[in-house]
Amino acid sequence: MSIVLDLRQDFKQAVETEYSVDDKMLRTIEKSLVKGGQFTVRIKAQQAAKGLSLDINISGNAIVECDRCLDDMETPVNTSKTLAVQFADRYEDADEVVYVPEEQTELDLWPMVYDFIALSIPLTHVHPEGQCNKEMAERLSQYMVGNEPETTL
Ligand SMILES: [Zn+2]
Repeated sequence: MSIVLDLRQDFKQAVETEYSVDDKMLRTIEKSLVKGGQFTVRIKAQQAAKGLSLDINISGNAIVECDRCLDDMETPVNTSKTLAVQFADRYEDADEVVYVPEEQTELDLWPMVYDFIALSIPLTHVHPEGQCNKEMAERLSQYMVGNEPETTL
């Protein structure tokens, strides 16, 4: 299962496709900040000047590690991005443009969608107060106290 856009479609009228991202897809990514989750990805593709314009909306819940107790926790994700697809035989590093050779018939959007999910995760993520794994949080806080720098008033 993946997020593959069929490029042989007629995009003169906007084409909307819905995909789902499951836990399994996310768990295949090594050393990922996102450890799992479930997302709905809606992609609206329409013909543009040199290729296609894609409106990508991602919503769902990501599983990440809590900064305080290291247990899994869920954090909601709802993000929208616009991506341009250009049909050209060049490979450049461009942030919001994907170059696709003219003869290519499909485009795998999973790497981009994964990046969008990862980028939308807030920098700090902790369980709401009182909902951490108590044992773990206590052990970690004991450890932290010993290492805390002296604070001067
Ligand atoms: Zn926690």
